Amino acid sequence: MDMAVEAGVINQHLIDPEICIRCNTCEAICPVNAITHDDNNYVVRADVCNGCMACISPCPTGSIDNWRKVLVTKAYSIEEQLSWEVLPAPLPEEQLVATPSLAAPATITPPVPAAAPAEAVFRSSDWGATVPPWSAARAFTNLYGPKNAVTATVVGNYNCTEAGFESETHHIVLDFGSMPFPVLEGQSIGVIPPGSDALGKPHVARQYSIASSRNGERPGYNNLALTVKRVTQDHQGNAVRGIASNYLCDAKVGDTVRVIGPFGHSFLMPNHPRSNIVMVCTGTGSAPMRAMTEWRRRLRASGKFEGGKLMLFFGARSQQELPYFGPLQSLPKDFIDIHLAYSRTPGAPKRYVQDLLHERAADLAELLRDGSTHIYVCGLKSMEEGVVLALRDVAEGAGLPWETLGATLKREGRLHLETY
Ligand SMILES: Cc1cc2nc3c(=O)[nH]c(=O)nc-3n(C[C@H](O)[C@H](O)[C@H](O)COP(=O)(O)OP(=O)(O)OC[C@H]3O[C@@H](n4cnc5c(N)ncnc54)[C@H](O)[C@@H]3O)c2cc1C
Ligand code: SF4
Ligand code: SF4
Repeated sequence: MDMAVEAGVINQHLIDPEICIRCNTCEAICPVNAITHDDNNYVVRADVCNGCMACISPCPTGSIDNWRKVLVTKAYSIEEQLSWEVLPAPLPEEQLVATPSLAAPATITPPVPAAAPAEAVFRSSDWGATVPPWSAARAFTNLYGPKNAVTATVVGNYNCTEAGFESETHHIVLDFGSMPFPVLEGQSIGVIPPGSDALGKPHVARQYSIASSRNGERPGYNNLALTVKRVTQDHQGNAVRGIASNYLCDAKVGDTVRVIGPFGHSFLMPNHPRSNIVMVCTGTGSAPMRAMTEWRRRLRASGKFEGGKLMLFFGARSQQELPYFGPLQSLPKDFIDIHLAYSRTPGAPKRYVQDLLHERAADLAELLRDGSTHIYVCGLKSMEEGVVLALRDVAEGAGLPWETLGATLKREGRLHLETY
């Protein structure tokens, strides 16, 4: 996108505050740090955004794909944008006529670094695909937004981590009754918690990955499952009570929940025979992995799937905090190859998912050579870089240059990153 559309006028990149669900995907992905936020809004710095469009496709709601023509000198400031509740209306053409003094700066040029860095900085998010695998089913997205949210009924809710521990994760099943809510494995939904925030505004939706397969948590029913961690501490370790996660974890069977979505068109599983799936996750990042595994399990049980390997690398602080530990143990070994890593087991050394990837380098390298291998990474943001670096090490250790392989995986929708 050319930011300079005509003399003195820019096409300013804005985010629609009414639709944005504050998921942070755009801020994490913007290569030039043009996006920032406060407790109210996500906003774009006009003087930094170069219109590269890297943030457009990953945004789950489409709220980021908004552009307004404004005079360069009257570009909406960060302060203005942070205060918005709705986007301003487009300006009439006559207000966009630049005065002679404004005509001079015909272009806005992206900032140029003072000196070229000696070595390019490794950004794990640069390697994540924004396109789905070629054989993925077609996903429906954004069927319901904040203004036409759908009501779902809670039909199940249980703690899927070991009871009695500080950290608790719930498996929650939502039923949509007669309302159409088509989903695929790897998609997510938004849940709007009731009530309002400190500013008196209704809470914005929080995003949750779908943990069940396309034909429902219970096959033949119009329902889906979520894996929700009860947030009791913020990222700095201070005690807080997460609004949406506590609302969902405390929901009783029969309660109703307002839902928007579905979201996501790229973190989808391949459907072609003999496609391999490598899943790397921590905590609730297991939700999409559960969904994909369950779909493959159902296909296999019905005799409709011709092979393809499944490998799962799953990390948690301890076995007690690992969601679905019990059910994972009952999956047949010839169906899925599972590896678990714990980072806080008393008396044992810390192990992370990337350690597991290094340990299984030989098998992973074999899969990386296979053009039918698809890799999914989901969970804590802090895991992302270590995992992508480990994949790079495994590839290069096997004589597969990462620059080439990583670019191919990205282009073909075979390496997906979803961290939060
Ligand atoms: C693409 C995507 C998929 C997601 N999928 C899931 C999922 O499957 N399961 C799931 O449980 N969550 C998932 N999340 C996170 C989820 O959307 C919420 O952010 C999370 O549940 C916290 O919301 P809250 O309303 O409880 O906390 P808030 O009230 O929004 O936040 C309370 C405080 O806790 C901090 N905080 C927020 N989340 C966390 C966290 N996880 N750990 C520590 N501190 C935190 C906030 O910064 C804030 O200070 C996903 C997020 C994204 C972007
Ligand atoms: S268009 Fe590019 S530079 Fe602008 S906010 Fe999006 S990712 Fe950042
Ligand atoms: S919904 Fe879109 S615009 Fe809002 S924070 Fe997420 S990615 Fe950014």
